[in-house]
Amino acid sequence: MNLKGKVALVTGSTSGIGLGIARALAAEGAHLMLNGLGDRAVIDKLVADLAHEFAVKTAYSAADMAKPAEIRAMILEAQKTLGGLDILVNNAGIQFVAPIEEFPAEKWDAIIAINLSAAFHAISAALPAMKQKRWGRIINIASAHGLVASPQKAAYVAAKHGIVGLTKVVAIEAANDGVTANAICPGWVLTPLVEKQLQDRAKAKGTTVDQEKKAMLAETQPMHQFSSPEEIGALAVFLCSEGAKTITGVPLSIDGGWVAH
Ligand code: NAD
Repeated sequence: MNLKGKVALVTGSTSGIGLGIARALAAEGAHLMLNGLGDRAVIDKLVADLAHEFAVKTAYSAADMAKPAEIRAMILEAQKTLGGLDILVNNAGIQFVAPIEEFPAEKWDAIIAINLSAAFHAISAALPAMKQKRWGRIINIASAHGLVASPQKAAYVAAKHGIVGLTKVVAIEAANDGVTANAICPGWVLTPLVEKQLQDRAKAKGTTVDQEKKAMLAETQPMHQFSSPEEIGALAVFLCSEGAKTITGVPLSIDGGWVAH
C-alpha cells in the first residue's frame, strides 16, 4: 500500500485505460476522484464498488473535459471533498479518423480541447497546491502517437505530440518542488476507443473484427499483442512511487516495440 492516504484524480476513468489506472491507484491505497461520461446509475455503482473493494474514499465529477471552467471546478472539488490532490492523471481522450482534407473542423477542435487543452487547465489548477505541499505526481496519458504519426489522425497525433511537450515544460518548471510530470505512451490497448476503430475498419474492408485486430497490431507493433489497462495502471503506480521521484519530463513507451522501429 505505497499510496495510502494520497489523493488521486483520473480524468476519463469511467472506462478503459483510465479505469485501469484508477483501480491500480486505489489498490495501493489512494483515495480517488473519478471523472468521465456514461450512464449516471452505472457510474454511481462503480464509484461505490471501488470504495468498498479497496477501502478508500471515492468521489465523482461529471466535468466535461471540453469545458475549462468545469475542469477547474473539478480540481477544487477534489481538493475539498477528498482533502487535497496529490496525483493528477490526465487521461480522458477521444479519437476521429479521416484524411486531413476531409477532417471536420469541429472534430479537430474537440480533440484538441479534450486530449490536450484539458490537461493544461487541470495542471494549471492543481499544481500550486502540489508545489506548496512539496509532493505531486502528474501523469499525462499520451500515446505512441505522441512520438510518431499515422495517417488520418491529424488532430489526435497533434494533440498527443502536444501533450508530450506540455509534460516536459511542467517537469522543468516543477523540478525542484517535489513534483514530477511524465507522459505514458501506450501502443494498442483493447478499449472501447480502439474497438470502434476495429469495427469501422472491418466494415470498410469487409473483414472481421478479429482479422482487423491482427492487421492493426501487425501494422505497427513488433510485438503482436495488446497492452492491458492493468499494465498501464501498474506503470502509473510505479511513477507515483518514491523510487520514481527523479523520473520527470519523460514520455514512457508501453507499446510492444512500436516506436523502436
Ligand atoms: P475509452 O473510450 O475507453 O475511455 C475514454 C474515457 O474518456 C472515458 O471514460 C470517457 O467517458 C472519457 N471522456 C471522453 N470524452 C470526455 C469528456 N468530454 N469529458 C470527460 N470525459 C470524457 O478510451 P481509452 O482507450 O481508455 O483511452 C484513454 C486514453 O488513452 C486516451 O487519452 C487515449 O488517447 C489514450 N490511448 C489509448 C490507446 C488505446 O489503444 N486504447 C493507446 C494510446 C493512448
